[in-house]
Amino acid sequence: MQTLSVKTDRRTQLVDVTAQVQKAVASSGVATGICYLYVPHTTAAITINECADPDVARDVEGALDRLVPATGPYRHREGNSDSHVKAVLIGASQFVHVEGGKLVLGRWQGVFFCEFDGPRDRRLQVKVVTD
Ligand code: ZN
Repeated sequence: MQTLSVKTDRRTQLVDVTAQVQKAVASSGVATGICYLYVPHTTAAITINECADPDVARDVEGALDRLVPATGPYRHREGNSDSHVKAVLIGASQFVHVEGGKLVLGRWQGVFFCEFDGPRDRRLQVKVVTD
C-alpha cells in the first residue's frame, strides 16, 4: 500500500488527485488489475467525476454545503457534524480498473479527494492489485 499526501486549503474542497494516483499506479509496477483508493479520515472522502471543467467540482462543493448546512441542530460537540455527514454521503473508498499500467477512466473523469473540514494535511491510501 502507498500513502499519498493531500494538502487542502479550504473547508470544503474537491482536489483533483488523478495525476498523483496515476503516479502511484505506475510505481506499483502493476500492468493489469485494480487500483483501490481509501481515505482514512472521518471528515473527508473520495469520488470520481468530471475534471475537464473545474467549475463542476466547485458546483459539487457548493451543492454539498447547501445540502448539509454547517449549523444544525447537531449533537456532536466538536462542531463539525456537517463535515461528518458529507463524508458519509460521498464515501471513504473507490476503485478504478488498471490496464496498460494506467487508470481506466472515462474521457471526462478524474479522481477527487474530498475535503470537508479543511484546511488540513490529509492522507489517501492507494493499493494496486494485479489480476
Ligand atoms: Zn467531529
